[in-house]
Amino acid sequence: MPGGCKIVGVTMTRLINTIAAFAAATLLMGGPAVAYERENYVDAGVETLCHKLARKLGSVRLHHCMDAGLQPSGGYSADGLPLAMRTVGYGNPSPSARVLLLGGIHGDEFSGVSIVFNWLRRLDRNGVGDFLWHIVPTANPDGILRRKAQRMNANGVDLNRNFPTPNWDVLSQKYWIKRTRRNPRRYPGHAAASEPETRWIMDEIDRFRPDVVVQVHAPYGIVDFDGEREPPQKLGRLHLRLLGTYPGSLGNYGLQRDVPVLTIELPSAGSMPSQREMDRIWRDMVKWVETNIAPQARVVNSEYR
Ligand SMILES: [Zn+2]
Repeated sequence: MPGGCKIVGVTMTRLINTIAAFAAATLLMGGPAVAYERENYVDAGVETLCHKLARKLGSVRLHHCMDAGLQPSGGYSADGLPLAMRTVGYGNPSPSARVLLLGGIHGDEFSGVSIVFNWLRRLDRNGVGDFLWHIVPTANPDGILRRKAQRMNANGVDLNRNFPTPNWDVLSQKYWIKRTRRNPRRYPGHAAASEPETRWIMDEIDRFRPDVVVQVHAPYGIVDFDGEREPPQKLGRLHLRLLGTYPGSLGNYGLQRDVPVLTIELPSAGSMPSQREMDRIWRDMVKWVETNIAPQARVVNSEYR
């Protein structure tokens, strides 16, 4: 019976993942794992989100999403979908860096969501390394799940222009009107931080206190960076090209908060890089965090998890 087989398949995968997470945590700790992030149940809101994503995105299978270890973060989109998050490396008492990884802030950039799911599976296979990760594959679920996917959230706001950066009231409107000619895809909102998704990311930066934020976009095929650290010259085939700062952007907000923001711009919004290239981007990114972020990572009390 196909239905029965599927359920068994998912259960088996979860069991294997749980064992893998336990083994990884044990290795990391050098002793018995005291805690790990995987749960054996999937929250109902996350399950609904997974069903919707699997119907929408060819590259995200239902079991990938259900087995991704996503949990409700407490944040919700304007339309009430959970901003689902996975914490990776929870058992590590002294991570060398804290990384907030965000996919899909722009809802029509499917590859930026799919690659984060791909990397989540990679973490399960290859171990979690020495960082503490907060990973949100779909930071703008409403935009992705619209009948016609859109860059903006359900309120028609470009979340990456909605962050409270200096003189936002004047500069964001000026930029939108003069530079984009009131392009609805770039609408910054009626007020800074007007959107629940924006506010959740801001709160998350306050709570989690990441040493770096990594966000995945498309389709410029480059790496962009905002911050005081040495940026990566290359991740996989993507070369560094600084795009400048924009009123209301997450990168600009990171500058105000002294949190470096690495922006990965994949070459295509609608198709995925090869597995080899996704692996390379991941490896280069992790290496860059080890070299350029971890040595100066803030010592954060373990209560900030
Ligand atoms: Zn984008």
